[in-house]
Amino acid sequence: MSKRDYYEVLGVGKDASKDEMKKAYRKLSKKYHPDINKEADADQKFKEISEAYEVLSDDQKRAQYDRFGHTDPNQGFGGGADFGGGGFGGFEDIFNTFFGGGGGGRRRDPNAPRQGADLQYTMSLKFEEAVFGKETEIEIPKEEECDTCHGSGAKPGTKVDTCSHCKGAGQLNVEQNTPFGRIVNRRVCHYCNGTGKQIKEKCSTCGGAGKVQKRRKINVKIPAGIDDGQQLRVTGQGEPGMNGGPPGDLYVVFHVRTHEFFERNGDDIYCEMPVTFAQAALGDEIEVPTLHGKVKLKVPAGTQTGTRFRMKGKGVPNVRGYGTGDQHIQVKVVTPAKLTEKQKQLLREFADISGQVPDEQHESFFDKVKKAFKGE
Ligand SMILES: [Zn+2]
Ligand SMILES: [Zn+2]
Repeated sequence: MSKRDYYEVLGVGKDASKDEMKKAYRKLSKKYHPDINKEADADQKFKEISEAYEVLSDDQKRAQYDRFGHTDPNQGFGGGADFGGGGFGGFEDIFNTFFGGGGGGRRRDPNAPRQGADLQYTMSLKFEEAVFGKETEIEIPKEEECDTCHGSGAKPGTKVDTCSHCKGAGQLNVEQNTPFGRIVNRRVCHYCNGTGKQIKEKCSTCGGAGKVQKRRKINVKIPAGIDDGQQLRVTGQGEPGMNGGPPGDLYVVFHVRTHEFFERNGDDIYCEMPVTFAQAALGDEIEVPTLHGKVKLKVPAGTQTGTRFRMKGKGVPNVRGYGTGDQHIQVKVVTPAKLTEKQKQLLREFADISGQVPDEQHESFFDKVKKAFKGE
């Protein structure tokens, strides 16, 4: 039984948009729905419409259908295999499907354009450099096309031959006898290293590789707010492509050094500020260093050690431009280690008139300790 063309089934043109197809499908599926339409072939028609829409509404399936029609070339081969130029059917392709090295059966044509490899560069940044960003130049070792032979690997004026071992395919079939029978394996041709070419007289500059190692300077703009472990992609600054393929990308990975005073968590900055007992008890205005310069902070009278204060917008600018983080300050009341005779005298007087820690605070504290030991 020959199947009807899917476009014909839906009654749309070959260039129909998704919208047009949806409309056509809705109209037809309503008309032929078996619950509504009691004609004998309604069921069959409904199935046909659903199948046509399922294929044509999926970009990938539609492209396959446009290229191959109803005969799906992937059927029976586990699906997903791409046979490249559509030259399906030969022995070669079946070998590729099974022995293609896990690459989905795609034939590796040594002359096909291939993208160059990506490069990775680790950059160490000072804490402030990561916060504010900077523009810098980095020097990376990079493979570049050889100027002498322009990438061919052959001495200028000499000819490049096709590899006689693999006939230019870049791969060789290796037969092996195993307990399960004869297995044909496909390997990279080691005579030409998979290039499919044989160079009689090698270029003296690159030794036949067609590429040379150079150091290259690249300008990198580090965005403000970058954090430790994040990376930046510099498009097209990787290794050169093969056979006219595009170059790879360069990934700059950042390592941000710690700061002696500030600690960073995302876009927020954390720090500790020492204050004297007198400042904490009486209240004071203290100067706090921030990444954006010194800022005055009011410490209210009766501030306990460990109290946190937040200064809005004094943190790190968000790397994606979503505002700026805050700075969190934790106050630490410092007990003086050394006292002059006069200070001691004053503190004794202070102790005399203020007594011990107020009874109610004292008791409730020791109650908690007792309970904790009893496990209540
Ligand atoms: Zn060369
Ligand atoms: Zn070869």
